[in-house]
Amino acid sequence: MNDLTPPAPAAGCSATPVLKERGQHEVFCGLTGIIWLHRKMQDAFFLVIGSRTCAHLLQSAAGVMIFAEPRFGTAILEESDLAGLADAHEELDREVSKLLSRRSDIRQLFLVGSCPSEVIKLDLARAAERLTQKHAPHVRVLNYSGSGIETTFTQGEDACLAAMVPVLPETDRRQLMLVGALPDVVEDQMLDLVRGMGIEDVCVLPAPRAEAEMGVGENTVYALTQPFLGDTHAALTRRGARHLPAPFPFGEEGTTAWLQAIAREFDVPQERFEAVTAAPRARARKAVARAAQPLDGKSVFFFPDSQLELPLARFLTRECGMQAVEVGAPFIHSTLMRDELALLPDGQVISEGQHVDKQLDRCRAASPDLTVCGLGLANPLEAEGLTTKWAIELVFTPVHFYEQAGDLASLFARPVRRKDLLQLEAA
Ligand code: SF4
Repeated sequence: MNDLTPPAPAAGCSATPVLKERGQHEVFCGLTGIIWLHRKMQDAFFLVIGSRTCAHLLQSAAGVMIFAEPRFGTAILEESDLAGLADAHEELDREVSKLLSRRSDIRQLFLVGSCPSEVIKLDLARAAERLTQKHAPHVRVLNYSGSGIETTFTQGEDACLAAMVPVLPETDRRQLMLVGALPDVVEDQMLDLVRGMGIEDVCVLPAPRAEAEMGVGENTVYALTQPFLGDTHAALTRRGARHLPAPFPFGEEGTTAWLQAIAREFDVPQERFEAVTAAPRARARKAVARAAQPLDGKSVFFFPDSQLELPLARFLTRECGMQAVEVGAPFIHSTLMRDELALLPDGQVISEGQHVDKQLDRCRAASPDLTVCGLGLANPLEAEGLTTKWAIELVFTPVHFYEQAGDLASLFARPVRRKDLLQLEAA
């Protein structure tokens, strides 16, 4: 660590008891991940085995795709399928054959489970195996679940990446794998930083194409760029790869700590680390200081949604001068969150899971300056006079690494500044 790095808090949250709640929860389902995954994997197709509701969700969330040949679709389960009157497997095979004969560009096909396919217990793993045999070697068929039953919207990406890990070829190369789907421009910045430190054997999961030379094995070390990749982490560990624990690359501090974990592993000299990071760190600090002014001294309350809550709370409290009242997360993965909890200053409630009514009561009682929550809660809370930020925006907007640190602070600052202005005008 060097002098630019703020010290860890005297009392982090590593030992803070977590308030565990169960009850009604308000989140999108894992199908949402298809919206960003299909852009990253250019030869993949996501076939949702679901209902008309699933098709509507995808179409409305991905409306921007109407100008392109879509790389996702829905095989609709009709009433006869749901009642077990038709052989859904036969129909699925027919649909897949039709799709693949029309689209020779597809090299990876994901059968994506949904609430209806889970309810009728459609065995998509068996279907993927059968269809892989039928369409190999041109197309690889995998499956995962994007169902909204007991899951959150970012888990779709986790389930998708976890499904890819078992079929990666074995390699004994000493390599760094960077795991998580990022916007292309952010991914390029990440690769420039890592290669600038002299690490050349680097691959990214998910790769843009199926034939990308990527394997995994005991000499693979990996760093996660997204905090919601618990199943992918487990799948990579099962393949013998080793995780590099670190805070996540949000804000200047998180990015530096994330890069330091990689630098330590690859014995990057301190001077080289400084040479690569000093300028973007300084830019990030300046951008955050400018953008975060309206946040200084304000309070923030996180409802559980994206699984980004703990790293973002760390960023807002340590780099933007905010105080967290409650940080709610849908799940807290103790290994992945260890470094985040150690950095998060003690003093707020940390909750896992959701009982939305009880949490709303706590939020109203605290009356925070900013509430980060899902779309469904934002409007009612705004109507009650609370200032909100939609959590889903944080997943769709480039927010990782140094060059986006200022934008990340701005995303939170904008609603606070608007509220301040409205109050000034009303005064
Ligand atoms: Fe709705 Fe479930 Fe389909 Fe998601 S998977 S759109 S929650 S029915």
